Amino acid sequence: MKVYFLGTGTSQGIPVIGSDDPVCHSADPRDTRLRVSVWIHADEFSLVIDCGPDFRQQMLASRCRRIDALLFTHEHADHTAGIDDIRPFNFRQGNLPIFAHRRVLDNLKRRFDYVFETENRYPGAPSVKAVEVQNNRPFSVAGQEIIPIDVMHGNLQVFGYRIGDFAYLTDVKTIARPEIEKLRNLKVLVVNALREEPHDTHFNLAEALDFIETIKPERAYLTHISHRMGFHADVEKRLPAHVFLAYDNLEITI
Ligand SMILES: [Zn+2]
Repeated sequence: MKVYFLGTGTSQGIPVIGSDDPVCHSADPRDTRLRVSVWIHADEFSLVIDCGPDFRQQMLASRCRRIDALLFTHEHADHTAGIDDIRPFNFRQGNLPIFAHRRVLDNLKRRFDYVFETENRYPGAPSVKAVEVQNNRPFSVAGQEIIPIDVMHGNLQVFGYRIGDFAYLTDVKTIARPEIEKLRNLKVLVVNALREEPHDTHFNLAEALDFIETIKPERAYLTHISHRMGFHADVEKRLPAHVFLAYDNLEITI
């Protein structure tokens, strides 16, 4: 199984529009970060988690040609605003299955009503098959079992997903004990780390490292990174040996 980091940035992406911050002017390609998303694929299946405003660019860069399902973590725009660009997949494959919490599906129906329209549909409109994700109800896509992990982004519920020995958690600030139990014996954990200073709704670097210490995966990759974290090359030097900063277009094998 391969995990391709489509985007590793926080909601504004890096560079931030109009920013004078040196990280936003870095020549290191690892300091350019699109909005957070990941493509998990093997011979038998192809899953994308979240569909932010950079989705089109990410599908082109990764050369992803087929998606069996789109999994959503939550409804914030940096995770959902690219849904109009699923159309090339619709034209080749038909309706795209999307998996999300009931609340997120309802939110998408309001914001992208034309996608869910059943009467008088515009012929080229995106089309989806909506499937509700419930906590403690693992589901499968193309024969691959997926375990939802229920976490909190401040006051907002968010789903992370475990697939085999891999788990992807973004926009976490707190996580309940029973959910932590679902994350034992991981080869790779991906988790959000915004910056060094604390933040109300995202793990900062110290909180993410503490969480990794609790979960004890073989390796961990940090994502959903702000320009305020600093230069990729500087930050990575300060991390424990089994913890890495993810960067856009990095692909790892699990
Ligand atoms: Zn986010």
